Amino acid sequence: MEEADVAVIGAGPAGATAALILARQGLRVLLVERPAGRPFAVGEGLPPAARALLESLGLWERFAAAGHLPSYGNRSAWGSSELRATDFLFNPYGHGWHLDRAAFDAQLADAAAAAGARRCPVTAVLGWEPGTPDGVLRVRRGDGDLAVRARRVLDCSGRAAVLGVGAGARRLPHDRLVAFAGLHRPARGTDRDTTTLVEAVPDGWWYTALLPGGARVFVYLTDSDLLRSKTYRHPTAWPACLAPTRHVREVHERFRYELTAPPLALPAGSSRLVPTAGAGWLAAGDAAVSFDPLSSQGILTAMATAARAAETIIASLNGNPDAAARYAAHVEGLDREYLTRRAHYYGHERRWPESEFWRRRSGRAGTFSTPTP
Ligand SMILES: Cc1cc2nc3c(=O)[nH]c(=O)nc-3n(C[C@H](O)[C@H](O)[C@H](O)COP(=O)(O)OP(=O)(O)OC[C@H]3O[C@@H](n4cnc5c(N)ncnc54)[C@H](O)[C@@H]3O)c2cc1C
Repeated sequence: MEEADVAVIGAGPAGATAALILARQGLRVLLVERPAGRPFAVGEGLPPAARALLESLGLWERFAAAGHLPSYGNRSAWGSSELRATDFLFNPYGHGWHLDRAAFDAQLADAAAAAGARRCPVTAVLGWEPGTPDGVLRVRRGDGDLAVRARRVLDCSGRAAVLGVGAGARRLPHDRLVAFAGLHRPARGTDRDTTTLVEAVPDGWWYTALLPGGARVFVYLTDSDLLRSKTYRHPTAWPACLAPTRHVREVHERFRYELTAPPLALPAGSSRLVPTAGAGWLAAGDAAVSFDPLSSQGILTAMATAARAAETIIASLNGNPDAAARYAAHVEGLDREYLTRRAHYYGHERRWPESEFWRRRSGRAGTFSTPTP
């Protein structure tokens, strides 16, 4: 049997951030990790405000030297077919970045390990049996099953929230957004446009972003129940999927972008885990609350909730009985504020009132119609 003060499940931005903070406090941390198993990592836009968080974690210098691509703004055709630019010129934190996402996640996890977190590769999390003072986390590894005696467990396993859902919590979905993401390389010329380009279309929206190393990701977002064809995953049909766009297609054609692998289908919906904390466990990052990629706030929120969850665990280990309930209320508040902002942004697009995708998103702030689970 392994022993730890805190077992953290998932080594994405949330899990690595929490493990780093807890290990620096001298706690014995086990970072339970399973590779995502995808040909490439999606979720690359990091906003300028991330700098403050990276500085507070003591990771800024390492991050700045890692070769992520500075991004000086966004361009969007949203509410109108014309492109509007928003630049980061007056942002107090400076520019944002398009990340090499796999390298970013690996760097965070390495920092947690350097601070003392022990890494534990697993193939599955089997369950959590709470106990006083310690509970038991059961995991499956390549070489057999392992029991981990731990005082607390933190679920940072992303949208799947494997531990929370296994403990009886359920995801409260706010929509059914899915993403189809294709990684491309240019066959002609050199693309230097480091803005994120967003374009609304009748049944959803697209974005595209240049990545470090010259690859570019093109992503389509729509609701899973509105998908009319399965062509979004087929490499030969993919270029035709861009037909409803104007600006995104123009970038695709100008540099003759070609897919490097079949497009990925990914859940991209907004949702919250209810409850966010239970007997001996808490959830953070996407496992606790997941945002629409339009917000570009997923990574930052994952790291910020993880930092808060780590403080909550320390407070609860020090005997504060209200810490977990306060954390859960904080996450619920974040979700509420986010939903108001989401309705505000989607409410700007009114060109297709007959489209079900946009009709669902046409309410005034806070009246976005949500699906029944
Ligand atoms: C199409 C798309 C585009 C996006 N674009 C952006 C963007 O531009 N900017 C932005 O900020 N956010 C973006 N996001 C959101 C962002 O990627 C997430 O919010 C962020 O990754 C959340 O971090 P996390 O650590 O909570 O979860 P994740 O990054 O999902 O990490 C979870 C980790 O847990 C591991 N795991 C899963 N199950 C288990 C298990 N059973 N045992 C052990 N480990 C397990 C996974 O392998 C993974 O390593 C986007 C999301 C999508 C879908």
